[in-house]
Amino acid sequence: FAASGSASALSFYDAATDPHRPERLSLMGDLREALDCNGLSLYYQPKLDLASGRFGGAEALLRWNHPRRGWVSPEAFIGMAEDTGNIHRVTRWVLASALAQAQQWIEQGLPLHIAVNLSARDLEEAELPERIGRLLSIHQIPASHLTVEVTERAVIGESDTAIRILRRLAGQGIGIAIDDFGVGQSTFAYLRHLPVSELKIDQMFVKHLATDTNDQIIVRSIVDLSHRLGYRVTAEGVEDQGAQDYLASIGCDHAQGFFVARPMPVDAFAAFVAGQAGHVSAGLLR
Ligand code: C2E
Ligand code: MG
Ligand code: MG
Ligand code: MG
Repeated sequence: FAASGSASALSFYDAATDPHRPERLSLMGDLREALDCNGLSLYYQPKLDLASGRFGGAEALLRWNHPRRGWVSPEAFIGMAEDTGNIHRVTRWVLASALAQAQQWIEQGLPLHIAVNLSARDLEEAELPERIGRLLSIHQIPASHLTVEVTERAVIGESDTAIRILRRLAGQGIGIAIDDFGVGQSTFAYLRHLPVSELKIDQMFVKHLATDTNDQIIVRSIVDLSHRLGYRVTAEGVEDQGAQDYLASIGCDHAQGFFVARPMPVDAFAAFVAGQAGHVSAGLLR
């Protein structure tokens, strides 16, 4: 398949390095307008279950095609949205869109598992678990179909609120994934106090997995330890057959990356899934 129109193949406008700093302000104004006027979209990147060779889920990734600047990377505007307090509206929009989409897939006979990224600031909102619970019931989606991805940065530190929120989400049956694992400061010693269901190994350790023996040792160790602790493992940034084969050989649960499939708009995603007939899990990827 061709992931045509994939924003990840394009170069993004980067406001963080924009020499015209006042532009940052107007960018946040533009973001609020995009929220009001349907200017944001979600791309979906399929996740491959390595043991079965089936696709059972996808990660929702935010895309903003700015009317003048073109594609603005989430990495450029999420941080700014956090600083300016706009992130809560962004997250509400992402959750509502992703879960409405998941409901459509269920109605089409595709009970796909869906993963949504949360930012650190989202874990300051005590009412988040309730809001997600409401959305799940509006869209008639079992909680087990949803995973929230949080980075190590979001859960590390003093915040009792963040931990309480994660426990409540997990208590509702929602999956908790630690994103970009391995590049931050969290340790297994710390994570074992959290209701973690999945670790996502950062692409830095995965990119050169086919040839780099140090990366192989690191990734194999993370997978082994994770499994002993009861976490599933996803490798991010799988860019070639060699990396995918290595991950399968060590029993890593899921693979995600450009080699597996690029993030794609919802129509391309539907076509991709249709083209994978027989390779899409009837059950859930968990
Ligand atoms: P992430 O959650 O770790 O998402 C994975 C990123 O890696 C995505 O970048 C994806 O397009 C990219 N990627 C996937 N496979 C490959 C590969 O094989 N090679 C390479 N080089 N990259 C790959 P993207 O979409 O630009 O998102 C960047 C980050 O922005 C995400 O990292 C996440 O932290 C954040 N983000 C994206 N969407 C949202 C959202 O809805 N809410 C929040 N709070 N953050 C989001
Ligand atoms: Mg993620
Ligand atoms: Mg990641
Ligand atoms: Mg990332």
